[in-house]
Amino acid sequence: MIKCERTYPAPESLAKRQAYNEADVISRLKAIFYDKCYICGLKGLQDGVVEHLVSHKGNDDLKYDWNNLFWSCHHCNQWKNKRGFETDVLDCCHQNPEQHIMCIYDPRGNRVIVKPRDTEQSSVITARLIANVFNEPNTGIRINASSQRMQDLRREWNVFLKLLADYRKEKSAHRKRLIRARLSRTSAFAAFKRDYIREHQSEYKEFLEFVS
Ligand SMILES: [Zn+2]
Repeated sequence: MIKCERTYPAPESLAKRQAYNEADVISRLKAIFYDKCYICGLKGLQDGVVEHLVSHKGNDDLKYDWNNLFWSCHHCNQWKNKRGFETDVLDCCHQNPEQHIMCIYDPRGNRVIVKPRDTEQSSVITARLIANVFNEPNTGIRINASSQRMQDLRREWNVFLKLLADYRKEKSAHRKRLIRARLSRTSAFAAFKRDYIREHQSEYKEFLEFVS
């Protein structure tokens, strides 16, 4: 999860309070969230949905509140609708999630570890949600969505590590630019790669400026 900047005013269709997923809302959300799921970081969603940060059940104010609308993949939306995540997930348009949680990909175990950086309820709950959407056990109906997500993360991870290895062999400006692009907030699974650089900053000092 990474920081996003919400734009104003709210899309016009929300004022009618009939639907929260009309075309104007969706195009604005795609732009704000860099065409990525705000929970897992998957980019270019085929199954994107309008997600309510705080559950809107029985509350029309929350249902059509522009500040409560987010962009997610169907899989993460399903997870977020489970008990325990109705409230208190970090609002990445107001807070910088990278200051509150740490996202680690463990390629050997092929699993994701998400650690809260503080004891705030929102940090703990958000860390649990993100770990769950990746690590869901391989049983039940949503197996494919979880393992698909993990495969995409692994693919992006391998590209990223290859770029870092190439850079260590020859520290060219071109190779540095390629890595910078992979560290951009707009890139797929950005939080994992950015935290990797922070965790290995003695080796990659020159990239710290791209993750601050
Ligand atoms: Zn997702």
